[in-house]
Amino acid sequence: MTKEEVLKKYFGYDSFRAGQEILVNGILSGRDTLGIMPTGAGKSLCYQIPALLMPGITLVISPLISLMKDQVTALNQAGIHAAYLNSSLTQGQYQTALRNLIQGRYKIVYVAPERLLTESFLWAASQIEISMVSVDEAHCISQWGQDFRPSYLKIPDFVEQLQVRPVVSAFTATATAEVREDIAAILGLQDPVTLVTGFDRKNLRFSVKQPADKMAATLAYIMEHPDECGIIYCLTRKTVEEVHNALVGRGFSATRYHAGLSDEERRENQEDFIFDRKEIMVATNAFGMGIDKSNVRYVIHYNMPKNMESYYQEAGRAGRDGLPSECVLFYSGQDVVTNQFFIDRMEAAEGMDEETAALVQERERERLKKMTFYCFTNECLRAYILRYFGEYGDNYCGNCSNCLTQFEEKDVSETAKNLIGC
Ligand code: ADP
Ligand code: MG
Repeated sequence: MTKEEVLKKYFGYDSFRAGQEILVNGILSGRDTLGIMPTGAGKSLCYQIPALLMPGITLVISPLISLMKDQVTALNQAGIHAAYLNSSLTQGQYQTALRNLIQGRYKIVYVAPERLLTESFLWAASQIEISMVSVDEAHCISQWGQDFRPSYLKIPDFVEQLQVRPVVSAFTATATAEVREDIAAILGLQDPVTLVTGFDRKNLRFSVKQPADKMAATLAYIMEHPDECGIIYCLTRKTVEEVHNALVGRGFSATRYHAGLSDEERRENQEDFIFDRKEIMVATNAFGMGIDKSNVRYVIHYNMPKNMESYYQEAGRAGRDGLPSECVLFYSGQDVVTNQFFIDRMEAAEGMDEETAALVQERERERLKKMTFYCFTNECLRAYILRYFGEYGDNYCGNCSNCLTQFEEKDVSETAKNLIGC
């Protein structure tokens, strides 16, 4: 079977999405592979399809029991022999699954990282042909990421103990250079095919402004966008309160969200916004995780956030429905000071030694610097964002405050302006 036939037969799709094919080909040519794509881009297929075409078994390392279950259920429904090995199995079930594995009953096996170096699993692994070890959510191996899992460090040790080195592939949605370098280095990827793709959100217009009066600028923006849903992110609870009061005082349909409110109130306010009972959400970064509201027309950053990761994640909550939407950042020098203050006060994460904690802090300062550069750069903001995340493309989007300003400075004719849609 060809990879296209597998795609159609088992998954029901006619064509690969951007990037998938390159990664599938990389693996099938026997090379280590690193795929970085946003959530929902379709990373699973990138290892599942080659897994079905390779001669031996593919082991997939995944951090969450629920993720493994979902994936295995879906594969089984598609008629693929797959199973998982993790702590949700009883001892008896686990032994049975190991026996099946050795007897070649599975093509794809999801394994919890904690299991890899156990005696029973190592023994089973020595009895089978392993074509590939695929690491899902690979950022969990990096201490710089938010989701560091020490058990992921067992993966390279495990691979080392195999008699024949399989292809190692790794996938994540975390695109920063530090995390990416960590993944490749710690997993020991050998000259990997690396692909970063799909982070561009074409319907979003980015702009940076440095208003003398942020409150006035915010009010002006909202008045120019009546009947639209928007989120206003602030750095502190205090600022959330100020902005929220100002909006409500002027009769705008606004609500608020931050960690200082009771669970009950947070839930109510969130629902008011989600179900369109309130148009504007004023919030700290505590708001937004897992929220999938499609018709957010603008995200205003009342303050510059601490880094580009946070910025893009928060701004990216605009325009989920694909319609044109705006991401406006109101910058001021005080924002840098506030963020620096937060970094200075950072405490070491649990189980992290002092030296690492100091390094993490240092990197946070670096990230803050790059966030600040974003506010000052003259180049295309979209290009700046994408390059930050490792994706290279055009240096001119024609639809961000920098591209549009340069355009105006060149005093181009109305016709040309219409042509690029501004
Ligand atoms: P990720 O792991 O990158 O977050 P998933 O692998 O869970 O994403 O895939 C997200 C969704 O996209 C799934 O429903 C999957 O079936 C679908 N998908 C993946 N590849 C394709 C494709 N080539 N064509 C259509 N749908 C696809
Ligand atoms: Mg995934």
